[in-house]
Amino acid sequence: MSSAEEAKSDIATDDKGGETHKKIHRLKAKRDEGGEVDPVYKKLSAINGEINRMSVKELQDKLAELKLDARGSKDILQKRLKMHFKQRKLMKAKIKPPVECTYDYVIVIDFEATCQENNYNYTHEIIEFPAVLVDCHTREIVDEFHEYCKPVLNPRLTEFCSSLTGISQGLVDKSDEFPAVLDRMQSWMTSHHLGIHHTFAIVTDGPWDMSRFLQMQCNLSKIPFPHWGKKWINIRKVYSSHYSCKRMNLEEMLINLGLKFEGTQHCGLHDSRNIAKIAIQLLEDGCDLVKNEFLHVAQPPPGPKGSRENGSRGRDSKIRSREEIEQRLEALKLESKNFVEENQDLLEYHKLQSA
Ligand code: AMP
Ligand code: MG
Repeated sequence: MSSAEEAKSDIATDDKGGETHKKIHRLKAKRDEGGEVDPVYKKLSAINGEINRMSVKELQDKLAELKLDARGSKDILQKRLKMHFKQRKLMKAKIKPPVECTYDYVIVIDFEATCQENNYNYTHEIIEFPAVLVDCHTREIVDEFHEYCKPVLNPRLTEFCSSLTGISQGLVDKSDEFPAVLDRMQSWMTSHHLGIHHTFAIVTDGPWDMSRFLQMQCNLSKIPFPHWGKKWINIRKVYSSHYSCKRMNLEEMLINLGLKFEGTQHCGLHDSRNIAKIAIQLLEDGCDLVKNEFLHVAQPPPGPKGSRENGSRGRDSKIRSREEIEQRLEALKLESKNFVEENQDLLEYHKLQSA
């Protein structure tokens, strides 16, 4: 049987538990330099080729048959099916355990802040502080923290800000200032034993929440930047890397998954819940959520989310201190590590091709 025919038969029989074990050589995954590529990778490559040739309807039918989510664009459906076979085959070949989450929990944070239309140099103050807690093992939202904050530097909200965020002047006037709210949020984290008995990471949509809003606010409030916000997961980057697609904004990511934005956009709590939905879907689709952003103490990227091209960071070429050089080096190390991890499949594929 040719490898294409084998792949077809694998796709056709996988759900019935009739996977032909004999066909897979259970060689140990010793792919050290000069070592043999395990044949399972060749097989996976053939399966992937077969999946690439399937129509949307065929993909949907196959996913439904496997009792997997059949919603989303063609890219999403292909990736979901490929991940299904990859996980099964690698597990059966005793190469990889099923995907384990690096963290027990993720906390999705989407701040809303004071703003002025078209003013990208504005000094923002956080006015809405939501945090949505996702259990990475059960893949569900288990709790929420939500408070508004009173701005001090610009206590009057602009009309643009109120209409964008839906936050009224009255609401912020009767709220506490940021440091008190941050204290309560951190007590909430402690009540969930986060960082004590359970590991966790912050998830945001883009780099701005930590590197711009939280950093500006901590400077203004003259309080230390919280340690948990120094490295975090930028969901836009994870998403585009996992599904091999271009960087998208929140609404686009949802649509691409066949999901809808629930609630009102630019309401921090609703934005956070919708980002959490994407995080859960990524976990369902076999993606491990790992930190991929690092706090840049240098000038944070200017402009609101919509104005930044694909969430790339600002490239301020002026290096001012040794500390900054060290931080940049660490950021580069983290980026290159992520690059290697994110491209593992591609590396395996090229290794196969050149074998
Ligand atoms: P978002 O999470 O997209 O709702 O945006 C977070 C914050 O970014 C908002 O609360 C505003 O402070 C700022 N922002 C978002 N969009 C704009 C815009 N078009 N112009 C100015 N500021 C904005
Ligand atoms: Mg928001």
